[in-house]
Order: sequence, then structure tokens, then C-alpha cells
Amino acid sequence: MATTKRDYYDVLGVNRDASDEDIKKAYRKLAMKYHPDRNPDSKEAEEKFKEGKEAYEVLSDADKRRAYDAYGHAGVNPQMGAGGGPEGFGGFAEAFGDIFGDIFGGGGGRGRSNVYRGADLRYNLEVTLEQAARGTELKIRIPTMESCEACGGSGAKPGTQPKTCSTCAGQGAVRMSQGFFSVQQTCPTCHGSGKMIASPCGSCHGAGRVKKHKTLAVKIPAGVDEGDRIRLSGEGEGGVNGGPPGDLYVVIHLKEHAVFARDGNDLHCEMPVSFTLAALGGEIEIPTLDGQAKVKIPAETQSGQTMRLRGKGIKGVRATHPGDLLCRVVVETPVRLTERQKELLRELEEINHRDRDRHNPRAKSFMERMKAFFTE
Ligand SMILES: [Zn+2]
Ligand SMILES: [Zn+2]
Repeated sequence: MATTKRDYYDVLGVNRDASDEDIKKAYRKLAMKYHPDRNPDSKEAEEKFKEGKEAYEVLSDADKRRAYDAYGHAGVNPQMGAGGGPEGFGGFAEAFGDIFGDIFGGGGGRGRSNVYRGADLRYNLEVTLEQAARGTELKIRIPTMESCEACGGSGAKPGTQPKTCSTCAGQGAVRMSQGFFSVQQTCPTCHGSGKMIASPCGSCHGAGRVKKHKTLAVKIPAGVDEGDRIRLSGEGEGGVNGGPPGDLYVVIHLKEHAVFARDGNDLHCEMPVSFTLAALGGEIEIPTLDGQAKVKIPAETQSGQTMRLRGKGIKGVRATHPGDLLCRVVVETPVRLTERQKELLRELEEINHRDRDRHNPRAKSFMERMKAFFTE
């Protein structure tokens, strides 16, 4: 860790709550004073100039400043993996947030330990197979914590002000000695806020934040599958004391479909076929996700045979080609027969019976196997 580095606010000589304008002014003053053109041959001035420039680069950038406020130099040092971009920062905060917050957070003083990134949230979203296949945009309503309007987020009853916590003198953290170590811990009196509220705000009960609902539009890309996650950056829970918000992860769940079952990019369905059509062959129309499709049933099709319709499945998010539709033939025995139908079937059976081995080879081979089994 860069323990020899000076606190950026100290470098520029500004307070932690300095406005962007104050930071800019302070940097301009420092740059004028230590500029190498004005201080030729001064190593010290050169170092001061460099230090000031670095501090300004971080504190003048809202995202970097937030990261620095939360995690000190580690939060803005690329070698520490924080990066400064929202993505690197998020992962970093998740992994190290607690450690840096409790132990190193107050290293430079001034109560950094009470600034936290908001929690990531998960939202389970059910979509139909058609929506998943084609992609869509859906609106979701999620609960969120927002700054309380009544007290302006301070948590104190309107007209009153929160007082500085006397236990930690507003630092939000206290130092405790444990053997050799001096460990910094969240202040037990104010729980890290650095403030004490004598008369809490009636609307938020002193929390400074209230639960509200917000509506978000979620773009569902075509081809999403069960368990896919869509990240909405910064739409998670709000940060604490100016920390960055967390992310919202929308997790996709597929509703059961009346006809199709999905297996990756393939679709499966059962296709009932009348037993005469299965015997004589023909064509039937079946629904697919993009309209009707004609399926050729070859003559003498057996129950359980599968017809593959290429490209009539789903094109996955990362796939180059759509999957297939696999229709499993189920030969349907006719029901509620009329006398005439029964008559015809009896006649058919009579003809079949004369050369059973030829017309019902499966029945024949089954009987032979049974015979062999029982005579062994
Ligand atoms: Zn305190
Ligand atoms: Zn309030």
C-alpha cells in the first residue's frame, strides 16, 4: 500500500467537503507557485507540482473522487485493481469494501469509514418463451431507498440539525487496542455516521432515506435463456454518505410454454398424428415461434419418431445460427368410434391378420423374443 502518499485533500489544502470550484482554485494556486518554469532547478518544487497535479486529477473527477473518499489511495490506484471505471470499481468494492472500510478506511482521518457503495440488487424477471426468443423491452418496478425529502437526507427533524457524535468526534470510527495492534472500528455510538440525531425526522425516523419505488425499462436481448443476467449499472441500492450506488441484476426466468420445451437453442414438442395419416403419410401444419410450418409425415411413420425442422428453434444471444425444432410424433389411436368406423377397422384387422408378420413386424419380433425368453 502506498502509505507514504499524502492525503490528496491535504496536498491541495482544501477540506473534504470542498466544492469543485474550491478544488480548481486551490490547484491553480499551487500550480502557479510550484510550476517548473518558475522554479528552475528545484527538485522540491517539481515534486510538489507533480503531487498537486495527481491530487487534482483525482479530486476533479467525480467518480475518482468518490472512490478516493471511500477507499483512499487504494480506491484510485490502478495497480490495486480499482481502475476508476464503474466496472472495476464495483468488483473491487465488493471484494475489499469491508476490509478497507473498517481497518484502513480512516487511515487519512476524517471518517472515510462511513462511506459505502450501495448493495447490488437482484430482480427475478419471468418472460414468455416468445419474449425470450424475439427480445423485448419490459418495465419493472423495484423498491429503492431515496434521500428523505422532509429532512433533506440529514435524518434530523426539520428545523433541527444533527450534532457531531461525541464518542468519535465525528470521525465515525474509534481506535481500539488489541494486543500489538491498534484497530480502527466503526463507532458504536453513531454506527459510523459521525452524527447524533437528538430529534429524528418523522418521515424517515432518522435514517435520512425512505423506501420508494422506481420503474425501470429493461431491454431483453433476443435469445436470452433461463438464468441469464442483465446488469443495470448504478440501479442498485443507493450508496451511504455519498458512496456510489450498487448495480441491479435482472435474472431471467422462462415461463412454461403450452407447446414447446426449450433445450439450449433447440425447441422440442410433441406432435399428435392420426393413425391413418401416420400409415398413409401426408402433410400437417404445426405452429412454430415464427408462424405456421408444414411438416411432411412420411408413409408408415411410427410413434416416437422425431421430425427435425432446421432453424425453427431459437437463436441464442451469442449464437450465429438458430437451433432446430424437434417434433416427436405421437400416433393417436382414434376414439369415440361410430359403428361404421368400427366396421372398417375390423375389416382392416382381418386383412392385416392374414399376413401379420408382414404388416406388423414389431409385434412379430416382440412375440418371438417373448417366446425365446420363456423357453430358455
Ligand atoms: Zn460516533
Ligand atoms: Zn427524513
